[in-house]
Amino acid sequence: MASRFDIGIVGAGLIGSALALWLNKHSDFSVCLIERQPVLNEPEIDNQRVVALGALAHDFLDSIGVFQTLGPDHAHPYSTMHVWDENSDGELNFEADSLNQANLGHMVDSPMCNYKLQQALLSSNVSCYFNSSVASIGYQSKRAKLEIETAGALDSLSCNLLIAADGARSWLRQQAKIFANTQAYGQKGIVATIETELSHQDCAWQGFLETGPVAVLPLANNQSSIVWSADDLRAEELLSLGERDFETALSQALKNRLGRVSLRSKRLSFPLKSVQAERYFAGNIVLVGDAAHSIHPMAGQGANLGFKDALALGRLLISADKSSIASPRLLSKYQRQRQSDNRQTDALMTVLHHAYRVDVAAFMLARGAGMNLLNALPLLRKALTAQAMGI
Ligand SMILES: Cc1cc2nc3c(=O)[nH]c(=O)nc-3n(C[C@H](O)[C@H](O)[C@H](O)COP(=O)(O)OP(=O)(O)OC[C@H]3O[C@@H](n4cnc5c(N)ncnc54)[C@H](O)[C@@H]3O)c2cc1C
Repeated sequence: MASRFDIGIVGAGLIGSALALWLNKHSDFSVCLIERQPVLNEPEIDNQRVVALGALAHDFLDSIGVFQTLGPDHAHPYSTMHVWDENSDGELNFEADSLNQANLGHMVDSPMCNYKLQQALLSSNVSCYFNSSVASIGYQSKRAKLEIETAGALDSLSCNLLIAADGARSWLRQQAKIFANTQAYGQKGIVATIETELSHQDCAWQGFLETGPVAVLPLANNQSSIVWSADDLRAEELLSLGERDFETALSQALKNRLGRVSLRSKRLSFPLKSVQAERYFAGNIVLVGDAAHSIHPMAGQGANLGFKDALALGRLLISADKSSIASPRLLSKYQRQRQSDNRQTDALMTVLHHAYRVDVAAFMLARGAGMNLLNALPLLRKALTAQAMGI
């Protein structure tokens, strides 16, 4: 006999886990979650990967009781952002004060947040299948029938709606035959934790360099997390440098704004690409988070967009009759609510990616002047700050 669920979620990353907990809290749907990896162990501190989360993501995690469990070492507020262009004198500043807010958002330790989400799931009513892979999907009476394999044992599940939260290379998206436009940036994002000689002042520092943007995201104890996006060749060079030489290269890239830099973790790297699903649903499979869209990390928006998806879909589901949660009407409403926002953000990242690589003198001058003009217009700057904060 197959175990019957209203909703099945595939993928227990930040978005799938958070959505499962949110549905568990706000509805009486029976929910199961299938994750191919074993349940996460508590991450080591030097393995930090950070996501900058705005107000909506914060409130989402807060509402399911997870944000509060992170503590100051794993969720650090930042109150200003300083952006500069390496090839012009262009500078931009964003301040939480200008919106009467205490902060612009939080730098959240992503593996720790994922671990806390999974711990909360284990003590919830969500039926969790970790270390499990979906062996097959079929359909019977409009329900999805899944065979899942856990440590060699097969289980049968049947779900009314299947949510794909299985990341940028979504297997479930492929099963649904949803095409995704994929564009490689030819860049890698290098991430590491650093400590700086000068105080980071709870400011997120973002420099647009000719070879790609570098971000320094403030953490507790004057440590910071970096995301240094660089063309593949330059990234390989940077990764092959010894620690001291890498520290020097980073201090120079930051034009010594934060003084001497010391590595506090090993360096990891990720290939950067944009992935945009053509549609967000097919049959009774619907996409959320990176399964629907994966974008360049330069403005730290990927997970924020995923939380917006989760909230939009969750709200539509809890306002629907149980029998209509997989209806094309509901799912197309979700697609209408989320697809253009996600696409616009992706397009903006691509425009910025190209705009800061042009090294024609007149364009660089105009780019710098544009940034400085924007900086001098408080109302526009305020609107941009609110947009970046997700409020
Ligand atoms: C360098 C870098 C920096 C970033 N910085 C930021 C930032 O500052 N702010 C921000 O908002 N975003 C940032 N992002 C983006 C953010 O990390 C992602 O958007 C977010 O983590 C996506 O979450 P997800 O749950 O949708 O997918 P994922 O995190 O990819 O999770 C997918 C889950 O599905 C599981 N899975 C996959 N296939 C299967 C299968 N077949 N069966 C079962 N389970 C499966 C995986 O094991 C995984 O647990 C950054 C990304 C990068 C690369």
